[in-house]
Amino acid sequence: MRIERILANNPGPYTGAGTNTWILDDGKGSVVVIDPGPVDRAHADAILARLEGRRPEGVLVTHTHTDHAPLANPLARELGVPAIGHGPGPGFEPDSLVTDGSVVSVGGLDLKVLHTPGHADDHLCFLVGRVMFTGDHVIGGSSVMVDDLGRYLASLRRLQGLEIDRMYPGHGGEIERPAEVVDWYVAHRMQRHEEVLAAVVAGAGTVGEVVERVYAGVDPALHPLAARSVNAHLMLLAEEGRIVFQEGRALPIPAS
Ligand SMILES: [Zn+2]
Repeated sequence: MRIERILANNPGPYTGAGTNTWILDDGKGSVVVIDPGPVDRAHADAILARLEGRRPEGVLVTHTHTDHAPLANPLARELGVPAIGHGPGPGFEPDSLVTDGSVVSVGGLDLKVLHTPGHADDHLCFLVGRVMFTGDHVIGGSSVMVDDLGRYLASLRRLQGLEIDRMYPGHGGEIERPAEVVDWYVAHRMQRHEEVLAAVVAGAGTVGEVVERVYAGVDPALHPLAARSVNAHLMLLAEEGRIVFQEGRALPIPAS
């Protein structure tokens, strides 16, 4: 098995150095492309050049955010292989659907598909032996934006039950100690959860007010992303019966 990265040319506050496009080779020339990224001729050409002389079998996407999926259909067409994902999204229409428990064969390799919602509803991770392609479920060097916190935590805890030696994320470098990183992700989310609750107790009633308190030290360019995560925290706090929404403002419920 051989794994290669081609970095997409889309650096930015939300994408770090850019999206990691991964090429997985079974060692005998059968390959799949994972997360080709945004539509970009130069990046498509770089991928095509790297695949020359090999046997492409599919283009997979971990989720349909626009920094991961839109190049999948045009690239798959050029390669004459299916675009594979959990479902359609902006700029992406899968030719072949996979879901939790599906297996994608690449020559002599089997990719096991795990549905890992939370960062995005349609998020998938791909496990090959003891390595995992994690998309934006777990990334290198920072935490991720969360849309549905309850599902996200459940998806993280699922990884805690697996033997994984190395992760290849959608952004940032390879993750060499996955167990430690996933444990940190869970702890970080739980800590943020308490910080969001504390902000509400201290009088912050809207997503914007909570972001200002909890993310005071964070680059303001990231505040729109932080707002989505804060919203996810508030929704879960409400589900847990720890806050209530009144006239559009979050209010704490005193513990009884
Ligand atoms: Zn994403």
